[in-house]
Formats: sequence, C-alpha cells, structure tokens
Amino acid sequence: MYRTHTCGELTLADLGKNITLCGWVQKSRDLGGMTFIDMRDRYGVTQLAFNADDDEALRARARELGREYVIQVKGTVIERSSKNLKIPTGEIEIKVADLAVLNAAKLPPFLIEDETDGGDDLRMKYRYLDLRRNPVRNNLVLRHQMAQAVRSFLDQQGFLEVETPVLIKSTPEGARDFVVPSRMNEGQFYALPQSPQTFKQLLMVSGFDRYFQIVKCFRDEDLRADRQPEFTQIDCEMAFVEQEDILNLFEELISYLFKKVKNVEIGKLPRMTYADAMRLYGSDKPDTRFGMQFVELNPVLQGVGFPVFDNAELVVGIKAEGCASYTRKQIDALTDFVKRPQIGATGLVYLRYNEDGSLKSSVDKFFNQEQLQAWAKAMDANVGDLILVMAGDADKTRKQLNELRLELGNQLGLRDKNKFSALWVVDFPLLEWDDDTKRYHAMHHPFTSPKPEDIALLDTAPGEVRANAYDMVINGTEVGGGSIRIFEKDLQQLMFKHLGFTQEEAQTQFGFLMDAFTYGAPPHGGIAFGFDRLVSIFAGLDSIRDVIAFPKNNAGRDVMIDSPSSISQEQLDELKIEISAKA
Ligand code: ASP
Repeated sequence: MYRTHTCGELTLADLGKNITLCGWVQKSRDLGGMTFIDMRDRYGVTQLAFNADDDEALRARARELGREYVIQVKGTVIERSSKNLKIPTGEIEIKVADLAVLNAAKLPPFLIEDETDGGDDLRMKYRYLDLRRNPVRNNLVLRHQMAQAVRSFLDQQGFLEVETPVLIKSTPEGARDFVVPSRMNEGQFYALPQSPQTFKQLLMVSGFDRYFQIVKCFRDEDLRADRQPEFTQIDCEMAFVEQEDILNLFEELISYLFKKVKNVEIGKLPRMTYADAMRLYGSDKPDTRFGMQFVELNPVLQGVGFPVFDNAELVVGIKAEGCASYTRKQIDALTDFVKRPQIGATGLVYLRYNEDGSLKSSVDKFFNQEQLQAWAKAMDANVGDLILVMAGDADKTRKQLNELRLELGNQLGLRDKNKFSALWVVDFPLLEWDDDTKRYHAMHHPFTSPKPEDIALLDTAPGEVRANAYDMVINGTEVGGGSIRIFEKDLQQLMFKHLGFTQEEAQTQFGFLMDAFTYGAPPHGGIAFGFDRLVSIFAGLDSIRDVIAFPKNNAGRDVMIDSPSSISQEQLDELKIEISAKA
C-alpha cells in the first residue's frame, strides 16, 4: 500500500498514529536543526517535520528534496507547535521516520501555488502542472459536482442517457463543421456534430420519450468571444411536451443545481419575450442583475429641432442613478467608449439632473428648460441622475446602448459575480435576415417550429414569424436554448424551402429525418445547455477555458500537445488527400 491517508485528512484526532503519506513537495524551509516540508496532493497539504536531533542523515536527505518531487513518508502524527488554523491539517505535523523519493522532478517552469508567476501561454503549455494548482483543480471539482447533479436530477425525472455518434454528417447549427476524411470511403467526409440535434429527434421518433446526454459538440467558428472549438452540452429532448413543460422542467433543473452546488435559491424564472428583451435591454440576453432599462424617447425628443434626433428611427435613453456628478471627463470617456469601432456609435447625448434641481444637457441649444423637464420626466429621473441618450437606426442603436448599459453596470459595480439573475427569453423570431448572403437563416436551427398562428406570415412577412424557441439567460449570458420541433414532414419541407434549400438539397441532407417523420413521429421539443459556460458562471469566472481540463487557445490550438499538426505523407496517401497550398 502506497499510503494510509491523504494529505488533507489528518487532524488532532489522529495523534500518535503511524501513517504513510504520498505527495508532491510544495515547499520546504529550514529552522535551526529542523526541516519542514509542505507535502501536497489533491486533498490538501500536510506538514512534514525532520529533526536533525532524531536522525541527522534523514534530515540531510529531506533538505535535498526539490519542489514537486514525488515522495512517500512514513511517520507519526504529532501536534504542531505553531498552528495554522486556515487548513484542516494545520494543527498537526508528521514526525518523519522514513522517506522515499518516488520520482525526482525538474524545477517547474512556474510556481505551482494559488498565486502563480506563470503567464497564460506557459501555463497552457504545461497544463498538467497548472492543474496541480488549487484554483484550477477546484474548477474541475465544481464541474464534476455539477455533472453528477445534472445526471442525478435527470435520472430521477426518467431521462435516459443515450450516446449519439461523433462521426456524422453536417448538422446546421449555424457554424462551420469540422470534417474528418474517411479512408474507406474515398473522397468522402464525416462531419463532427455541432450538436446531436437530429439524433435526439430521431430518438423521440424511436419512442425514447426523455433523452439526455452530457456531450461534446464541435463548431469551427471564430474563437474571439470566449468560445472553444469543442465544448460540452447538456443535451435534452422530450416527447409529448409543449414549451411550457420544457420551461418548467429545466427551470427546476437549474434551481436544483444552484441549491445543491451553491446553496443559492434562484427563485422562479421570469419570462420575457424576445421583443421585450430587445426593446428594454437591446439584447436577447439581458443582464437582469440590474435595472437601467431602455426608455424610448421618440415622442418626447423628436420635433424639437435637433436634427440627430429628428432623423433617427429610434431615440432611446438609459438612466444612471446618482451619476449626475459625473465629470465632463467621465462623460467624454463614455462617449469615446461608444464611438470605438467595435461599437460604432456616432455620439452620446447626456442630460444631467443637478443637485440644485436644474437640468443641463449636451444639446441645450435645442431644448428649453420645459422641454428638458419633459425629457427628465419621461425618463422618470430624479435629482442626481444622469440620462444618456443615443439615436439612429433602431437595431444598431439598441445594440450600442446595450454595450453602454453593460459598461455602466461594470463601472457602477452592478454586475456582482456572486449575485445570480436568471430568466427565460421566449418567442424568438423563427428567421433572421442575413445581409451577406441576402437570405433568411433559421435563427435557432431549421427544425424549430413556427408558432402555428404565425405560419401564414411565412410568405408575406417571414421576419415576423415567431418560433416556439427559448433561451435561458443567467447574468447576461445565454446558458441554454432550445425549441419545440417541427415533427411533420410537410412543415419541415416548407421550412427548408423558406431557408432557400431546393427540394433535392433538403432531401439529400435531411431526407433521413423527414422520412422518419412519416413513420409516426411524436410532438417533441428540447433544449441544450452550454455546460462549460454554466460551470464558469457558477465558479464566478469570465472564461470557459478555466473550467476545461485541456482547453485550446484563441487560435484553436492545443499548445501542450501541439495540435492541429501536419500528418505524414503515408496518412495523406491512404486518405487520397493532396495538400494544394501549404500554410
Ligand atoms: N441543438 C440546439 C443547440 O445546440 C439545442 C436544441 O435545440 O436543443 O443550440
């Protein structure tokens, strides 16, 4: 037996016990005739004491141990004289009688401690060392706990975990596919699933009724916005359900997770239509930890003679409570923020409700006091508030004001990571116009059902058709999304037609699904949660990378194993693949 205990469990209750421990040398220090070593494993840190008076030679060997050596010690649990009450083992130490070096270690390229000196790149290259650090390991412990809780909840609800294939054919979730050549089928390729969407629907046709899977998905998309080319979903599907059933059940799942893992009561999730979310927050994933809702000001601010407002499709403002004291410099900084190319606004107008009750705006020459009063009233502003207004094309202005609202939320400390605000956004549009391709795309995916009462609009006003689609949003992040599906061949065919597929294209790509619909497909619907994202929110982290054991960097590379990489000429020949232009 290598060890009798772990490095995290011995306490005063174990005094006098003869034990054997294994672990890594965290650090060592000499004090007079003594050498102390902190030995670490996954469970904690235990102090080892080597006394020169007891065994000069053993103490000398202890002094030679380097950081991260793997050692085994035998000894007795004794009470420590200077106690560390911050850790569970802090009142004892091991009086070591025997020491074995199981493996020496090179000096690690960065400090393996909670606060490390290693930069991102270095830690990614030596991710196996980074994973020894408590904060990184704790994220994976949390991830494990959440995965177990998800499984246990869904199992209790009668869901069956079914694995679906990884080598499939393209699923249109809106991103590019990763493809895998097939040696046995020359010139043909598998695609890695962007999600198991069609398979889970087929499982409903098979009568599985309640399916889930914690599953890897693959999307070859730009990685700017904290995305990973491979990520994990909690993927679910149910038969004989309506939207309401799904919302209720998965709201329960999330409440269960918050309670079980974080002891947080998340409460009943409010529901907001997509239209309201856009109108009030300029975003389909509103951060509802704070208010600062948009107020549309067209009736109040147009027609006064300020051309920027008069010519705008939308004039819309937010109220930063208590910010009237913002200096000119602070307001200029906000203006610069919205004018950055990523946001692209042309300007920002303010109205300040001064402490003395007077109103001051950046467009005073166009507005008299009475008009400023009406403006402040429309914003429900009080003494001390600062109103910020943007104007222009409705969609663009909403997006820009959303950025400003979030930035102000940050600046004012309203986006506390320990506070959680979850909601459902419902009634998404079915289709979304794409300016590049000049056609409509499925906003969720092509299997999402339109609201029956809107089907007639498909021909006349496709952009106005609402879908039975929903997202769960927590703290301004979309953590999950799904829909009630089309389950009749004719409607599915119609949908493909509206998405610009010819009948042949639809048949070649999705004939299997439409055929399945003709063999007794039940009404069904489902949802998928981004598991990495959910864990990162629970952990209070900004990046999903930190909750993935072996993540890829911004360029989609695994710098530890150096992948992607070239393959040998033999492999290429076998696959009948020629590389035409080398990067
Ligand atoms: N497959 C969808 C997605 O990955 C989720 C769903 O509709 O269930 O977003």
